[in-house]
Amino acid sequence: MNTVKILAPATIANLVCGFDILGLALNHPQDEMELTLSKEPGLRIKHIDAYNLPEEPAKNVAGAALLALMEEYGDASIGFDLTINKIIKPGSGLGSSAASSAGAVVGANHLLNNHFTKQDLVRFAMNGEKVASGVKHADNITPCIYGGVTLIRSIFPLDIIPLSAPPMYVTVVHPQIEVKTSDARQILRKEVQLKDAIKQWGNIAGLVAGFLQNDYELISRSLEDVIIEPIRSILIPGFDEVKQQCKEAGALGGGISGSGPSVFMLSKEEHTAKNVEQIMKNIYDKIGVDYHTHVTTVNTEGVKVVSSEA
Ligand code: ADP
Repeated sequence: MNTVKILAPATIANLVCGFDILGLALNHPQDEMELTLSKEPGLRIKHIDAYNLPEEPAKNVAGAALLALMEEYGDASIGFDLTINKIIKPGSGLGSSAASSAGAVVGANHLLNNHFTKQDLVRFAMNGEKVASGVKHADNITPCIYGGVTLIRSIFPLDIIPLSAPPMYVTVVHPQIEVKTSDARQILRKEVQLKDAIKQWGNIAGLVAGFLQNDYELISRSLEDVIIEPIRSILIPGFDEVKQQCKEAGALGGGISGSGPSVFMLSKEEHTAKNVEQIMKNIYDKIGVDYHTHVTTVNTEGVKVVSSEA
């Protein structure tokens, strides 16, 4: 019998102008899991957290991801026992479902002597996202598995490009309101004006170049979204105020994390990231909405298999 402990990071998808294509992983918060390779066929899932998530494998995102991996592995004589301690609050916009799916398949691959490639693991974990949101998307799973900043040039077929980036601090505020992913998708316009598209692809190219060249000024100038954010931000109270005041305090820029309600800001220096956190707290105290905040850094290693025992 073999057991591994797994740490799976929170992630930020839809990195400002990089809607559906750019994401990054965070060092905090991280989900904790324990996975055992068993001689008893099948998959058994247990949650030891307070979120009341489904434990039936086909309904749990980690289960759906593992079932896809097991099917392709093709050895019906093996099974897995998975225990999940969910730390990343579901529905926060911080990739809670992706952490479960990605963590489970990375752990399983470790127990199967790295039989699959990272790209295979993304493909399996996308089955988990389908359970959570009805569509197979990879914008949280990819940074969760690869770490750092990732670009998904194409999803069908999968074309993943891990990007190098300079060190950055990330401040996140999670206002305790519900933004349904389906609502956040439904309000988007189906058509885009050419002048907006030109601005957006200029910014995406600038952001990628800024990451690769460690150019904080270019990153900051490119952190602008003229297509999605103006519409989605109306679902998040305080958004404009947070963004404006944080940028005035020296943040490079930021936006909505995933489909919200969390909002994030990137900073070059730790003291700026901490000032940004205080600004976020002041704004939500004033509005009277409860919140959680995190100040963290970009996670460069992705899902971590922390220990194994024979
Ligand atoms: P986030 O925006 O933080 O990624 P999602 O809204 O995408 O969160 O996913 C949460 C949804 O997935 C919820 O409906 C939840 O019930 C469902 N779900 C099923 N299994 C899990 C799991 N293991 N971890 C997180 N969410 C799960």
